[in-house]
Amino acid sequence: MPLPKAELHLHIEGTLEPELAFELAERNGVRLPYADTEALRGAYRFDDLRSFLDLYYGLMAVLRTERDFEDLANAYLARAAAQGVRHAEIFFDPQAHLSRGVALGTVVEGLWRALERSEAVHGVSTQLIMCFLRDESAASALETLDAAKPYLHRITGVGLDSAEVGHPPVKFREVYEAAAALGLRRVAHAGEEGPPEYITEALDVLGAERIDHGLRCMEDPALVARLVRERVPLTLCPLSNVRLRAVDALAEHPLPAMLDAGLLCTVNSDDPAYFGGYAGDNFDAVRTALGLDEDRLRELARNSFTASFLEHDEERRARYLAEVEAYEFG
Ligand SMILES: [Zn+2]
Repeated sequence: MPLPKAELHLHIEGTLEPELAFELAERNGVRLPYADTEALRGAYRFDDLRSFLDLYYGLMAVLRTERDFEDLANAYLARAAAQGVRHAEIFFDPQAHLSRGVALGTVVEGLWRALERSEAVHGVSTQLIMCFLRDESAASALETLDAAKPYLHRITGVGLDSAEVGHPPVKFREVYEAAAALGLRRVAHAGEEGPPEYITEALDVLGAERIDHGLRCMEDPALVARLVRERVPLTLCPLSNVRLRAVDALAEHPLPAMLDAGLLCTVNSDDPAYFGGYAGDNFDAVRTALGLDEDRLRELARNSFTASFLEHDEERRARYLAEVEAYEFG
């Protein structure tokens, strides 16, 4: 039995495996520029950000109907459950679908069909977090939030993702203020490839309650002290960091130093179909490459539930935390 954990940094579009991509392509009459799943799997071994993003956005063409998004979410939840995920806060990128003519309602209601049955089918509780693409304009983010208004009962919070450098958090001040006024929780990617100042700005200007990635905080001791003092969770994605070259090798990942510093770190999978593994795979990888002992692994699992947006259901959080404490490593 795997260690129970929450997944807090997961882009649902990044869970599209080659087999499902071909199945959906056939169902929707979309032609993929790959001979078969093996050829496509080969393309997943990209070696830079550009080739990753081309593939990532190119493959989204197969996602067209509510049923497609439902199948995508169900496939993820089954894999996550098998790796010990008990609670998942799932990102989606509406602008990537709106821009190719897929309505926001199709995306949200499709995902919801899987999410509303997830506890019964997979034993995984879920939440949805709508992300804005930071390389799109602030006006586009505001339009997206506006388009989401009929679906806010399905959405817990907002996030900020995609290419970081040159797109500082301050660009999205207005849409985050509007989201807060609507009662939405707030997270943001910061300090992955962007500088530590973006983390500070995400906290102070956007009111971010969690920082996605955030590993470059280690370049600024005063920022680390603040993150520790304010118990700001960081959602790290070790295998993603290696594939996108945020770190040179897993053995050089700053996770152990970050835990030693007292940071509230969690381990997550980001875009697992593309980066070499799901939540449990990331736990296994850091355990091996960084020599994390059982106390550290249990701490990471505990942190994931502590950092979850479960304030409306503290009983559930307590139950999950009790599962972590009772877990026996094999
Ligand atoms: Zn991410």
